[in-house]
Amino acid sequence: MSAVLAMEPGKPCRHKRAEGCAIYDTRPEKPCRTFSCAWLLDDHSYPETMRPDRSKVVLSDIGEWEGWRVISATPVGDQIPEKTLAILRDFSLSRQCALLYYSLERSGEQFTGRGQQHAYGPPEFTKALAASSNEASFWQMGHAL
Ligand code: SF4
Repeated sequence: MSAVLAMEPGKPCRHKRAEGCAIYDTRPEKPCRTFSCAWLLDDHSYPETMRPDRSKVVLSDIGEWEGWRVISATPVGDQIPEKTLAILRDFSLSRQCALLYYSLERSGEQFTGRGQQHAYGPPEFTKALAASSNEASFWQMGHAL
């Protein structure tokens, strides 16, 4: 994502204007044409506190892993704020879904393209993940950092 648009941590896309995207007709395929924001799409099942401009996290419903619904959470900056992480963890437990979230490495004002993936979920999910011979397929559900 950052390589194509030269995004900088915590800053909006340089093509963003008050009236919308300045390059809308020629915007890149990824992420602009393919990304679907789960907060917008999910019929308001997410709390208002998870709205991206408030939570500083972008949510994506990325499918199922061994029967568990999996949601990915990508920080607007390099880290998900602790307050947001607490909300996401509560959501994961109350909705019995798995969370795949990221911390992104930066060098000064630039993303490096590296980072870490983290998993969270109800105890049954973490047990299943630890015991699964198919663990790699869970981590591969996330986008490439
Ligand atoms: S659609 Fe893509 S290029 Fe346009 S403002 Fe959004 S992120 Fe930037």
